[in-house]
Amino acid sequence: MNFKPKTLNLKIYNSLTAEKEIFKPILEGNIGMYVCGPTVYSNVHLGNVRTFISFDFIFRTLKFLGYKVRYVRNITDAGHLTDDGTAENDRFVKQSRLEKLEPMEIVQKYTVDFHKVLDVFNLLPPTIEPTATGHILEQIELTQKLINSGFAYENGGSVYFDVEEYNKRGLNYGELSRRNIEELIANTRDLDGQNEKKNPADFALWKKASPEHIMRWNSPWGEGFPGWHLECTVMSTKYLGTKFDIHGGGLDLKFPHHECEIAQGKAGNGHETVNYWMHANMLTMNGQRMSKSTGNYILPMQLLSGENDFFEKAFHPSVVRFCFMQAHYRSVLDISNEAMTAAEKGFQRLMEAVKIINNEELIINNSRISNLESRISNLESRTSNPESRTPNLEPRTPNLESNFKFSDWKTKCFEALTDDFNSPILMAHIFEAVKFIFALKDEKEQISLEDFNALKTLMNAFVYGVFGFQNIEENNDEKLDQAMQILIELRNQARKSKNFELSDQIRDKLLERGIELKDGREGTSYSLK
Ligand code: AMP
Ligand code: ZN
Repeated sequence: MNFKPKTLNLKIYNSLTAEKEIFKPILEGNIGMYVCGPTVYSNVHLGNVRTFISFDFIFRTLKFLGYKVRYVRNITDAGHLTDDGTAENDRFVKQSRLEKLEPMEIVQKYTVDFHKVLDVFNLLPPTIEPTATGHILEQIELTQKLINSGFAYENGGSVYFDVEEYNKRGLNYGELSRRNIEELIANTRDLDGQNEKKNPADFALWKKASPEHIMRWNSPWGEGFPGWHLECTVMSTKYLGTKFDIHGGGLDLKFPHHECEIAQGKAGNGHETVNYWMHANMLTMNGQRMSKSTGNYILPMQLLSGENDFFEKAFHPSVVRFCFMQAHYRSVLDISNEAMTAAEKGFQRLMEAVKIINNEELIINNSRISNLESRISNLESRTSNPESRTPNLEPRTPNLESNFKFSDWKTKCFEALTDDFNSPILMAHIFEAVKFIFALKDEKEQISLEDFNALKTLMNAFVYGVFGFQNIEENNDEKLDQAMQILIELRNQARKSKNFELSDQIRDKLLERGIELKDGREGTSYSLK
């Protein structure tokens, strides 16, 4: 169902122009969006998750607004150096030594972990998820192209982008981060490879692999590996074309990563490849940016399980999402015990309202819902046919005027959503509806059946579709399943050690509580009676 009022324009804050602009897709009704993915050398921390949730909300919103979105989010599984230097600074090589695993085992381990985490937080998968190692050939091709056109040079088996040459041709390295080249040179540390560069601001497109560097590929310049910035230029343009709509990532990627991407894209294609640059702001904890290197971080699963030193209790993944959605994606968000506890309260109230409007309370309290239903339908029959009013069809609160104007509310919600994805304002409007739903339940408000149905549909669409929340009960099912697997395993162990008294006890006690175990050829399963 497309609810979007036709007159509303989507506005997006473009980091390149530092302005909120009216969004015009290249191809009407279609959007190509590229977001920098994780570097899979260790577990993602909660800060990383915030950025991916920000773009999940943007992806969901774009789809909700009726666009067909091709969403490409890469996996960086090669080339991301901690500095611009040696094999020792290659995150994958470092981690593989630490864990005594092959670099590609590290990649696999943390890619699986990344997907699991995003799944728990109910993120939609991107439509394409390319890897850097799957696009080495394309990266070599672009490097060669840049050498051929004079934008890059080879030295000692490595290839560097020539920033000065780029600027000489009237292009502007530093346009995104608003830095000038003198500043960049002054701020460049004396790292490995600097003596191979013509200019300290030049950056690596391809690095020669030292003998001990395990992740290496053949190239026209000898064995080596690609520079980190190159992969995103190559993969975004491969799947979205040399001109595409949106490129996103965390704010910390603005420089140097995205600055270098712009330079590579322009030099390689003769024009800007991206129309709108979007940057999601950082998650902080104790007022400090969350980051692995400073130790100021929490893993998402630690927050969900409660096993950590920062938070008093465990929180549901949707409560975390709710907390994130209360801040605009371009604002810094500080996570704390108080923020999470308040988010939990808010989330529970929201879900209670959704339950009421979806009539789920019918199961719990039959009469209450039938009251609500009759009040809505009575009102409906009164408005559609005033003559047909009979005393016993009179609404229970006949003189009550509705303070809730559905169509104004709907417009305000869409204004927030299309105003650079303003989730906190949308949330504030949703809570107006929450208040109204509770008043409706308490028979202090009324609504026409038509508006009630539209409100119900829209609330569900916002809560589940756009915000991506899940019911807490759904998660309890998962927990029950996990607990049952543990009990089944314990019973199997008891049977193996011929402790039939214990194994029968487990079965019988579960049965008493309405859970039946069934032993079959495939093992033991359970069902709720
Ligand atoms: P990385 O794996 O380091 O490339 O980071 C993955 C994504 O997480 C990037 O878009 C980063 O900008 C983002 N990121 C890193 N730290 C934070 C943070 N503290 N808050 C929000 N996003 C972050
Ligand atoms: Zn990137």
